[in-house]
Amino acid sequence: MKKILSTISSSLIIFVAIFSFGSIAKSAEFFTIGTGGPTGVYFQTGNAICKMLHKSAISAEHGRKKGMKDKAYRCTAPSTGGSNYNIGQIKDGEFQFGVAQSDWQYHAYNGSSKWEGKQFKNLRAVFSVHNEPFQIWARKKAKVKDFMGLKGKVVNIGNPGSGQRGTMEELMKAMGVDNSFFKSVTELTSSEQVKALCDGKIDAFGYSVGFPNGAMEQAATCAAKAMPINLTGDVIDGIISGADYYASATIPKGTYTKQKKDVTTFGVKATVVTSMDVSEDLVYQVTKAVFENFDDFRKQHPAFAPLEKKNMIADGLSAPLHPGAVKYYKEAGLM
Ligand code: GLU
Repeated sequence: MKKILSTISSSLIIFVAIFSFGSIAKSAEFFTIGTGGPTGVYFQTGNAICKMLHKSAISAEHGRKKGMKDKAYRCTAPSTGGSNYNIGQIKDGEFQFGVAQSDWQYHAYNGSSKWEGKQFKNLRAVFSVHNEPFQIWARKKAKVKDFMGLKGKVVNIGNPGSGQRGTMEELMKAMGVDNSFFKSVTELTSSEQVKALCDGKIDAFGYSVGFPNGAMEQAATCAAKAMPINLTGDVIDGIISGADYYASATIPKGTYTKQKKDVTTFGVKATVVTSMDVSEDLVYQVTKAVFENFDDFRKQHPAFAPLEKKNMIADGLSAPLHPGAVKYYKEAGLM
């Protein structure tokens, strides 16, 4: 009797083990969306996409159809070094998606600028998101009125791998200056730079980011009493007319405390990118989750308020759209 019981219980253990192993094998597929610093808008963008996917019945239903216990896909959107870092991680197969500036999407796909010799032909666009005016924030006492006013100042040019760093360097090139134009440069991340400005450790930083943004409000209201400067004139006009991935940009007065005037500059678009190596099904599900929960998605950050579906599938995209995204846009009548 004892023997029979132990045979039954060991079969049961084997059965339970097989059963649970089976359900693990059929559980969700995990993937990663690269973002930016924790105080930026990219971090919110990546996490908003994951939120839409997780809440969406689409993924759950899709999972069930595939015989899965739970949703088909689950994602995480960790904070990262920014645009170029994200594109590099997608290229290496470490991330499946990333948020990246329109200029760096262009350069990576075409093998130009920082991507010369490292062209990423398999880079694919999914959609674009918010506008990112390129902003040079300077502390009040530094009395910087325009780009040339940065001469002899301590300036944060951004961490290597960030889009802000790349665009700052492109701007410096167009202005005909290098690091020696400044008193010194720092390579702080987007999350570190505001504290450094508020503490008087740097005079200014260059940053491409959506607005309104809590970290910039902090720069405007801390001891630095910082404001973004206008970036206008022939060189800037040349930058804008010379490339489709740049556009003129305005931060309307009143966006930040004590901002009495519109700030005029040039800017890029934040875009969501992936690789041709990522499955059509995954890109389709992600796209569908965002577009079918669009009102909710738009509420995830104030910078998303002006978003319109038709612009998101056209503006700021240089790499071809991924077939999974195209499948959804056609199905939804957007294309
Ligand atoms: N545009 C910035 C970059 O690529 C990131 C901005 C953000 O985090 O919202 O570095």
